[in-house]
Amino acid sequence: MSVETQKETLGFQTEVKQLLHLMIHSLYSNKEIFLRELISNASDAVDKLRFEALSKPDLLEGGAELKIRVSFDKDAKTVTLEDNGIGMSREDVITHLGTIAKSGTADFMKNLSGDQKKDSHLIGQFGVGFYSAFIVADKVDVFSRRAGSPASEGVHWSSKGEGEFEVATTDKAERGTRIVLHLKAAEDEFADGWRLRNIIKKYSDHIALPIELPKEVAAVEGEEKPAVEWETVNRASALWTRPRTEVKDEEYQEFYKHIAHDFENPLSWSHNKVEGKLEYSSLLYLPARAPFDLYQREAPKGLKLYVQRVFVMDQAESFLPLYLRFIKGVVDSNDLSLNVSREILQKDPIIDSMKSALTKRVLDMLEKLAKNEPEQYKGFWKNFGQVMKEGPAEDFANKEKIAGLLRFASTSGDEGEQIVGLAEYLARAKEGQDKIYYLTGETYAQVKNSPHLEVFRKKGIEVLLLTDRIDEWLMSYLSDFDGKNFVDVARGDLDLGNLDSEEDKKAAQEVAKSKEGLVERLKTALGESVAEVRVSHRLTDSPAILAIGEQDLGLQMRQILEASGQKVPDSKPIFEFNPAHPLIEKLDNEQSDERFGDLSHILFDQAALAAGDSLKDPAAYVRRLNKLLVELSV
Ligand code: ADP
Repeated sequence: MSVETQKETLGFQTEVKQLLHLMIHSLYSNKEIFLRELISNASDAVDKLRFEALSKPDLLEGGAELKIRVSFDKDAKTVTLEDNGIGMSREDVITHLGTIAKSGTADFMKNLSGDQKKDSHLIGQFGVGFYSAFIVADKVDVFSRRAGSPASEGVHWSSKGEGEFEVATTDKAERGTRIVLHLKAAEDEFADGWRLRNIIKKYSDHIALPIELPKEVAAVEGEEKPAVEWETVNRASALWTRPRTEVKDEEYQEFYKHIAHDFENPLSWSHNKVEGKLEYSSLLYLPARAPFDLYQREAPKGLKLYVQRVFVMDQAESFLPLYLRFIKGVVDSNDLSLNVSREILQKDPIIDSMKSALTKRVLDMLEKLAKNEPEQYKGFWKNFGQVMKEGPAEDFANKEKIAGLLRFASTSGDEGEQIVGLAEYLARAKEGQDKIYYLTGETYAQVKNSPHLEVFRKKGIEVLLLTDRIDEWLMSYLSDFDGKNFVDVARGDLDLGNLDSEEDKKAAQEVAKSKEGLVERLKTALGESVAEVRVSHRLTDSPAILAIGEQDLGLQMRQILEASGQKVPDSKPIFEFNPAHPLIEKLDNEQSDERFGDLSHILFDQAALAAGDSLKDPAAYVRRLNKLLVELSV
């Protein structure tokens, strides 16, 4: 045992403590994944070494074959993993094995419910990595030395997985990391060659470097124990270089878990090899669930980049647009240089053409999923729909394709679930309908009952109901789909085109003419509050509504801009009234100008309320209404 110096005891970051606690109590049904997680880390460490050694060959320290070794000791109840990868310095160990670097971790931890089943899913999404060692071990020793540092700068980290860990400086001859798991009494089944071999085959076969186990050599009685022989138990070739037909679904799935640090299988994947002017392979995955940090600015995004099989960088974001940031995978290029940097990637024209090809692959994969597995696509949309809605603004070239992938709630009774695609909407459109109608608003309950829908209900025309915060913004980037224009039913002078018969139109004109006097009187009464007053053809039950001017900002956009502290141009609504409504008839017959004024303001305010807007002067509304109520009761 070498001498240990500078020994100190440090506490885990709070989030680590929480994670450890939850993991130990939630992941008991799938304990064996600890090995996959540790092998995944070891493989990453070797990838990093290989890359750094391109510019600093000395790091290879004589150049033994890069590999991972897993061994065990039945009597001591230990399992040991050793890699000759990049290794860690003392500072590395303290930060990497004492804290969690992901942004938003503390918020994430607050979401955990204490319900172990639910939480195990969440933890899966979060990714447990190194700390999963404590699922099976009650003590873990890590010995590591950073490649290139002298043997005297090894580090020993040790912890029981409770509140704290110890670090000390020690000698370590070989570069890399050795992890010794002291198994819990009930978990000693893992100190077994057959068991370990099976777990490695099951989860880590795709790891591109050899994973070795000691060969079982039968002891001969009376003879000395022979030296350990090692044998490789995994396939040890980069999965994406193999022909598609030879890779099993399970292998694709396990590879995904390795690169994405996800616990669940992916929904779908697309594996391609491109030859010709550009040469590269790509393997793109669609996760089943949104990661907890999908909306964090610093959250990891992008693909793992390899150049001629050598790992070059994680999270290479230049290969996919931002709205596809949830896609995981690898791209392995033959054209890029091994010393490519993020800055170069941003400027390289090769990357642009790869980006558009990869984007198309993802959109194709989504189209296929939507067509062949509609139930799974629903799940996809629940998780990633909001992000997909960023697409039309970001990716003009693929606007139509993205629009085809969007899903909305609609008046065709789906209780607010976003499941209606535009193609489906058009397929069941009314005869003569050449528009796609939609209404935006705050909540489904509010838009569902909006007076703007009355005429559509009467005529049996479907209207898409858009209640996500970004919907109005999204619609400002979509003008048409499949040659049909989008129409916001709360905006402008609603023209139902061919859906109104000639008689309807004529009748409407006549009514409008007969109400010209009322229109003028209302204009005077409402004054500055309105841009215009007109007779409505879209109401059956409500007395009045407020329509938004064709060019004006809608309520949602106005609220977003206001919330972000921007000045919003003042726009006035158009007051439309329903000539057939008894209240309007009453108004028309009102002799007193004062009462006419009160009643028209009340109608105006009510229309604002029905649209989900707030009143400019709520006290005045209450005062007017109460005045009327008092008059009523005498
Ligand atoms: P993640 O792998 O998701 O980053 P982990 O908790 O598994 O999280 O590991 C934290 C960090 O510790 C890794 O990012 C890596 O920097 C370091 N690490 C873990 N295992 C090894 C290893 N075998 N060799 C070198 N570094 C390692």
